[in-house]
Amino acid sequence: SGKAVIPQEGQFIKLREDKSLEVPNNPIIPYIEGDGIGPEIAPAMIMVVNKAVEKAYGGSRAIYWVELLAGDKAEEKTGERMPKETLEVLKEAIVAIKGPLGTPVGKGGKSLNAILRQSMDFYSAIRPVYWLGQPSPIPNPERVNVAVFRENSDDVYMAIEFMPRDEKTQKVRKFLIEEMGVSEYALPEDCGITVKPMSEWKTKRHVRKALRYALENNKKVVAVVGKGNIMKATEGAFMNWAFEVAKEPEFEGKVITEGEPKDGQVLMVKVITDQMLMQLVLKPEAYDVIITQNLNGDYISDLASALVGGPGFVPSGNIGDGYALFESTHGTAYDIAGKGIANPLSLTLSGAMMLEYLGWKEAAQLIYDAVKRAIEDKVGTPDIANGFKKMGISAKALSTIDFAKAIAERI
Ligand code: NAD
Repeated sequence: SGKAVIPQEGQFIKLREDKSLEVPNNPIIPYIEGDGIGPEIAPAMIMVVNKAVEKAYGGSRAIYWVELLAGDKAEEKTGERMPKETLEVLKEAIVAIKGPLGTPVGKGGKSLNAILRQSMDFYSAIRPVYWLGQPSPIPNPERVNVAVFRENSDDVYMAIEFMPRDEKTQKVRKFLIEEMGVSEYALPEDCGITVKPMSEWKTKRHVRKALRYALENNKKVVAVVGKGNIMKATEGAFMNWAFEVAKEPEFEGKVITEGEPKDGQVLMVKVITDQMLMQLVLKPEAYDVIITQNLNGDYISDLASALVGGPGFVPSGNIGDGYALFESTHGTAYDIAGKGIANPLSLTLSGAMMLEYLGWKEAAQLIYDAVKRAIEDKVGTPDIANGFKKMGISAKALSTIDFAKAIAERI
């Protein structure tokens, strides 16, 4: 059947009034395998995370995993792609991890990722991008160590769309031209219109999260990125609100906006999007945290990921008020599913990011160190091995699960 089996020995994480977590030593953590390569990379991640927790805490802490169904596997077992039970248990458990979920093209139905994102209001998508030794397209990729904070509940993703020549579009055009004084040149009869909302409270909660992260992790330079010079009402407002947050009592004396940051301080600067895209390629070491909107965050996080070898090497977390769902950054990779060659690192590093979020930093560090050592030893899935071979370095290609074993052995 499709029923989730909640382990009796485990305990649910609790959310305190102030939205901080109370994590027991035996937390119940749900995982969704995901579609495509999901059933291959999820067991690999679990193996590595379990080994790291065991090694770090010698049995005094352990994760009690519970599988939840979504996507293809859920449809097969329950007839639904996102069973109600999955959403209920995710809410109860507060922290969870998932593989990629496919969005069937042309079948209709809302994207499962969108359903998940909205159900628990994961308003910040966080992608820490760093290099662990894998083949990369730039010289000295160790210069890249930047956490991209992408706002996740605003912007053009709200899908307020008026299609070209639609009746509604003509109404919106008419209103804007006749009542708002917009020129016909700007809104020709055959235009489509996408609405881009951006609000103060959604922006500020996102910025606070990023600043707390920067301070807790001893980051130095935080860039607020947007095209504020063109979109004054949205991205410009976002950038101004970010600087208002820096002045809030919580950040006073800790977030500075000019001068050199001292220990325990971060410097907040404004950078225009196009400038940031160029800087990331030319001088990636200049920024430690990027705070940006939803659409810019999409572009920036992919570019940053490419600098260290692609999304297959980068983890991500969707985080709201306490609630968090970690996930691989790549998709379902249906083209290689079932072949045992998928790279498990994105999901595995997302597992490490989840451990950090639980406050289990020692276990997370063991994973980072072990992945580094495995790559140093030139073992990896075929994508990694081929990358080294192209550089004239010999490397050993392993299957997904054997690569996970190679990492676990180095913990
Ligand atoms: P994709 O990331 O699945 O694949 C792009 C290419 O990268 C493919 O050639 C694939 O083989 C390769 N690749 C991806 N992950 C890999 C890995 N771990 N190891 C080795 N190679 C890997 O992107 P796509 O083809 O655009 O998307 C396929 C499906 O995934 C779509 O249905 C899309 O909606 C979905 N998707 C889901 C998520 C998510 O769940 N967060 C994210 C992106 C895409």
